Amino acid sequence: MLRAAFTNEPSADFSDPSVRGAMQAALAKVGSELGREYPLIVGGERRETGTWITSTNPGNLDQVVGKVARASKDDALDAIAAAQDAFKEWRRMPMVGRASVLLRMAAIVRRRRFELAAWMVYELDKPWDEAEGEVAEAVDFLEWYAAHAVKLTERVDLAHLPNEATDYFYQPIGVGIVIPPWNFPCAILTGMTMAPIAVGNTVVLKPATNTPVIGYKMVEIMIEAGVPAGVVNFVPGSGSEIGDLLVEDPRTRFVCFTGSKDVGVHIFETAAKVQKGQRWLKRVTAEMGGKDAIVVDSSANLDDAIEGIVTSAFGFSGQKCSACSRVIVLADVYDQIVDGVVARTKEVVSVGSGLAGEASMGAVVDKNQFDSIENYIEVGKKEAKLVYQGETPDANGYYIPPTIFADAAANSRIACEEVFGPVLAIVKVDSFDEAIEVANDSEYGLTGSVYSGSRANLERARDEFEVGNLYLNRKSTGAMMGVHPFAGIKLSGTNSKAGGPDYLLNFVEAKAVGEKL
Ligand code: NAP
Ligand code: MG
Repeated sequence: MLRAAFTNEPSADFSDPSVRGAMQAALAKVGSELGREYPLIVGGERRETGTWITSTNPGNLDQVVGKVARASKDDALDAIAAAQDAFKEWRRMPMVGRASVLLRMAAIVRRRRFELAAWMVYELDKPWDEAEGEVAEAVDFLEWYAAHAVKLTERVDLAHLPNEATDYFYQPIGVGIVIPPWNFPCAILTGMTMAPIAVGNTVVLKPATNTPVIGYKMVEIMIEAGVPAGVVNFVPGSGSEIGDLLVEDPRTRFVCFTGSKDVGVHIFETAAKVQKGQRWLKRVTAEMGGKDAIVVDSSANLDDAIEGIVTSAFGFSGQKCSACSRVIVLADVYDQIVDGVVARTKEVVSVGSGLAGEASMGAVVDKNQFDSIENYIEVGKKEAKLVYQGETPDANGYYIPPTIFADAAANSRIACEEVFGPVLAIVKVDSFDEAIEVANDSEYGLTGSVYSGSRANLERARDEFEVGNLYLNRKSTGAMMGVHPFAGIKLSGTNSKAGGPDYLLNFVEAKAVGEKL
């Protein structure tokens, strides 16, 4: 069973009334559980700290989703000690036993899919399909890593000497600090936590401050599935208060981070310093932001390109690292693309509360992001031509309408900086050469798409477009585990490739043994 071929977990079809009914029931159940208090978890001990992180619904600011105990510096240090202690046993557990825990977790997550999706509808105002799709992705991560952990136990074929037996295998490395982002607080958090655990490490998980409740729910499921005390420790707390402490600690063996470029770079630098008493170089996987471009060539199927641009730009209000935030278009099809993208956005993008399950975009995550996106819209108005801005509901939430700028200069801020909201910049170029040049003139290199009917141009993009995930004639979002192993290059990250064949290698070290016969 553990070696069964991997298949992606299918997403629910919300056009089916019985599926809608199941989601509504889950929302009602979760709705009756809002406002509760959750402890942190250190070495199996549930602790309250007297101070709380209050999680609210960004689409309804009066609604408290839950309160989660805020870890102090001492709690964070205790968590590292608990993880270090638990490592002694967990590293010895046979791989198949650890993989079984992941499979059991996948089964529980699958059974509770609507309930977990409902928590994200409340905590992030995530649209139903995006939330449920994310739960399906968490299942994919677990089943993929379970299968690949077992695969990792296969001995590697080496050359042999006539009088010497040789062996080469992988071992876990120790205590890791796991720091996920808020935008995929179920799937990414699960993948980043359970991949290192699958191969025998123990972790201290610091969830994003915006999404600690769904984080707690996932950790509860980890424990229910059989992750022992101390193997996963849950310490909510602000990155600026306990982040450096966790990363700097000499007992920390690796850091697994996904989030913004600035924080990732800071963690990379901090972890590089060898602390007093530290006996290794820390491993860092840092997956960071993007300024993902879709290139539209003159020969492209324009309807396909327009559909791909609108879906990639405005899905989950543009709050995906893979979201399309710049479109680079050849001059001869430029007007058709601008008009088409505006028309299609008007037609299919609507803004409103995630709760109702009707709107395609909910609120953005918090006041900081709201202010920052609004500020970018003002910048865009000065730098480019505002060609469309949609409507927002009259609600007590951080709603921002889909916003499209045309005639943006390639080097303008709106076309170069990550906005992380529903804001799109369109840039005109004269040739495919120039399109690739503009696309690559970025510190980021996460995802990118090219729509073209020219095989020669598609092959140039395959070779020259500097991104970790390139899509030809399809949208830039919606990577599937096992199908599109995901991670960027350049300042988008360390290219660890989540959901890929090599991801687990980030959390093990190889040992070569020679025995004289
Ligand atoms: P963020 O602000 O960088 O936060 C990410 C995590 O880092 C949070 O848990 C945060 O804690 C923590 N943190 C903040 N300062 C820290 C410090 N000094 N030391 C240790 N940890 C610290 O990113 P975000 O706003 O959550 O997520 C959005 C960003 O993630 C975007 O840039 C997006 O492109 C990127 N992203 C990338 C990928 C990918 O695969 N490449 C996937 C998803 C998202 P607090 O919440 O307490 O601040
Ligand atoms: Mg943030």
